[in-house]
Amino acid sequence: MRDENCIFCKIANGEIPSATVYEDDGFRVILDMGPASKGHALILPKSHAADLGAADRETAEKLFPLAARIGSAMKAGLGASGFNVVQNNGTSAGQTVFHLHVHVIPRYEGGPSMVAWTPGSAEPEELAQTAAKISAAL
Ligand code: AMP
Ligand code: ZN
Repeated sequence: MRDENCIFCKIANGEIPSATVYEDDGFRVILDMGPASKGHALILPKSHAADLGAADRETAEKLFPLAARIGSAMKAGLGASGFNVVQNNGTSAGQTVFHLHVHVIPRYEGGPSMVAWTPGSAEPEELAQTAAKISAAL
């Protein structure tokens, strides 16, 4: 299914040109136009889903293997020493384009640094209560 008003539907399906790294029947992998590092890629499913929670299982289960392949190619082809796989769901999580996508961000010795958070703290009891709330909603 495509959404006529969705820019990533148009890019994924080739209506808008992009720097394409990889394409198959279900996915197009492009370079992000505002890269966090050289080679920052976006995995775009060709069918529209707003985010990971809305994706069908067949699409969702292919994302990580494809991210691994793209990340490995960044190491082999660009000299990256590592890569981050980042996937934002919802405005509060930083999602700005509401068509499911996975960022694959190559990392290089010496930076730039990114994708970091400040670790907080939590008592075991609080962890247990929080875990129970998530479990109950599965
Ligand atoms: P997110 O914040 O996870 O929704 O990420 C959206 C990403 O899409 C950002 O990193 C943007 O730089 C990127 N982006 C938005 N429009 C385009 C476009 N037309 N071509 C390539 N990347 C885009
Ligand atoms: Zn779309």
